[in-house]
Amino acid sequence: MSAATTRSRTTDRLCAEAVDLARTAAEEAAAPGVVGEHAGLVSEGDRVVTHFFECKELGYRGWRWAVTVARASRAKLVTLDEVVLLPGSDALLAPEWVPWSERLRPGDMGPGDLLPTDAEDLRLEPGYSGEDEPPPNAPVSEEMAELVEAEDAEVTAGPPSTLPVVPLRGSIAAVAEELGMRRSRVLSRYGLHVAADRWEESYGSQTPMAQAAPATCVSCGFLVALGGSLGQAFGLCANEFAPADGRVVSLSYGCGGHSEAAVMPKPPRPAPPVIDETRVDPFPLRPAPDSGSVPEASDEAAAELGHS
Ligand code: SF4
Repeated sequence: MSAATTRSRTTDRLCAEAVDLARTAAEEAAAPGVVGEHAGLVSEGDRVVTHFFECKELGYRGWRWAVTVARASRAKLVTLDEVVLLPGSDALLAPEWVPWSERLRPGDMGPGDLLPTDAEDLRLEPGYSGEDEPPPNAPVSEEMAELVEAEDAEVTAGPPSTLPVVPLRGSIAAVAEELGMRRSRVLSRYGLHVAADRWEESYGSQTPMAQAAPATCVSCGFLVALGGSLGQAFGLCANEFAPADGRVVSLSYGCGGHSEAAVMPKPPRPAPPVIDETRVDPFPLRPAPDSGSVPEASDEAAAELGHS
């Protein structure tokens, strides 16, 4: 038997000697041939002992079969309590489980996937949906009050329920709509900052592309301006050949596709033909009969050409 690993309490002798009983139980629970050497025992309490056996199953390195045996008070018969496979101190374990919401990475979503947004998501804060305002046909609404005032003056086109729900100019809903806040939730300050940090990291002034760029996006004709406070630092690139096409870019980003950075070279123009009308170029009419080479024109022929 291997050296016993005991706790402070005294190990029951009969339970400690029941190694064969424990091995038989482990072999019954395990696949054939995977129960190895006895690897120690632990006293769990009065007359309760757990025996350990090495596990030889592939993929379970460092795991041990733990068989607990027990004995009743004043009884000599040791009985089986339980058999279980447990990891040892150097066991090969699966990585700790991580919830999907923490495992999710940008780009993981595919078509048809739904990504629920936490009600307490810090990136969002309440917007103005108009739900707090009375509907246009409610007796207490501003629209209804104006309608009552004008009741005698003109005939409305239909019942109040058919009136348009477009917010009145100057109302809270109209202002909220103008500011882009007329949604149940809008981007919070924190959400704005984390988005700006992310974009700055991907398409900001510190990227290698921007460092090698001839000019920055702020002076580029392909930059589409953004509204709101983000427009002070970011814009949208609309150059299909640029690496950031369709992306939000920092105004201090830049690339070689800058609209004004490189001037398109003009195609080379051929030199104008030079016509010399002051001299005569001799041109042989036929090759010389003996050499086959082109003979020079005779003085007579040249003179004729010169007079013609
Ligand atoms: S083309 Fe280049 S410089 Fe111009 S906006 Fe796009 S990324 Fe900026």
